[in-house]
Parts: sequence; C-alpha cells; structure tokens
Amino acid sequence: MTGIIALAIILWPPYDQQPPVHTYGDTALSGAADAEGNGSAGEASDNGLPGYTILIDAGHGGKDPGAGGASGEEEKDFTLSLARKVYALLEQDPLYNPYMTRTDDTFIELEERSGYSNELGADAFLSIHGNTFQDSRVSGTETYYDAASSFPLANSIHRKLAGATGFPDRGVKQEQWKVLEGNESPAILMELGFMTNPEEEAQMLDEAWQDRVAGAIVEGLKEYFSENNRGDGLSDEIP
Ligand SMILES: [Zn+2]
Repeated sequence: MTGIIALAIILWPPYDQQPPVHTYGDTALSGAADAEGNGSAGEASDNGLPGYTILIDAGHGGKDPGAGGASGEEEKDFTLSLARKVYALLEQDPLYNPYMTRTDDTFIELEERSGYSNELGADAFLSIHGNTFQDSRVSGTETYYDAASSFPLANSIHRKLAGATGFPDRGVKQEQWKVLEGNESPAILMELGFMTNPEEEAQMLDEAWQDRVAGAIVEGLKEYFSENNRGDGLSDEIP
C-alpha cells in the first residue's frame, strides 16, 4: 500500500511535462501588429517584401542582475533601457518587425532566448550587455559572434558602435556564448562598455548616450541588410 502511494507521489504531478512559461514580453511591445505582411523570416531577403524580424535581447533580468556597476547600478536595468530604445527606433520603420526577449525585470534562461529567436525565425538577434572586470580601469566596447555566418552582422554594427560609444574599440571577437551558440539566426552579443569602470558607467546610464548608441545599432543593422540586398554582405571576411 505504501509502495503504491509512494509511486503515485513520484508520478504525480508530472512536473517534467508542464508547458514552459511564455515570458517573452507583452504583445503591445513585442508584437508587430502595425507592420505590413507577416514579417516571417527570410521574406525580405527572398522576395523583397517588407519585414525583417529583429529580436532584441536585453541581457540578464530578474534574479540575474548581471554586472554590478561602479555606482551600484545593475547591468540588467541598463540592458533593458537600451533594448527599449533600439526597439522604439525599429518600430518606426515598416521594414522592421522588432521583438524583445523581455520587456520587464524577468529572468529568462539563455536557451529560451535563443529558442525564441529560432521560433520567430529572426533575421537578426541582438543581445545587449554591459561588461565587467575586477580592474575598474579596464574599458571599451566589443562585439561578439559565434557562427561565422554572423560575422557580417557583428562587423556592420560594431563599425557604428565603436564611434558612437566614445569608448576604446576592443574589436569584433568570436566566442561560443551560450545565447549565440543555439541561435540559428545571425546573432551577436554587444558588450557596450564596462559597468565596472566609473567613467564608462556614468556615460552608459546617461539618456543621451543611450539614444546615440541605440541609433548606431540601428544604423549598423540597416547597413547590414542593405549590404545583404546588394549581395555583398557575406563578402566581409573574418580577420
Ligand atoms: Zn551581461
């Protein structure tokens, strides 16, 4: 008898069969209801119809604060603020259907972020981060890609970022970050500056700096797609 009860406890409820919680923002912000067409991936590049699907990923969130800034600010708040600005800029252009992995202070697993990108069939995945280092003097902007096919996107955006942040240019780098690794879309991760560097952090938390950098990200993204449309986007060679 006790054996049967124990078995029933083990088998019920079926925890491993519970559907995943869908945490990807609210429809008002992450939807693209005003865009022409369905905006499904590849349409724009395949047949010239409007609708590049862009997934903007504000790094960290919820129980994961990310880097602790020099002033005590948390990376997760910086990334969300900048991600919202990038979203707002793209939303104004009918050629782009922007989505966000999170629109509030929510924890999302890295696999869920890349999974959402694959689910959407995103044309680009942009992960926004602030950097951290034990030595507070370390500074600069760097952009990461994993798959070689993501290098042209990283390169296009980094070229604009390097000037816009006003920080030392640490270059474009290859790294198997988990959020990039499982991503089937062209995917990059931007470390815009060092939160642990007091001078950089102060800039990064500044509204005007964020507006300028969001503009640079969008500029680089648009250049990437225009280069791809000309058919020479993939000619960018990995150094
Ligand atoms: Zn981060």
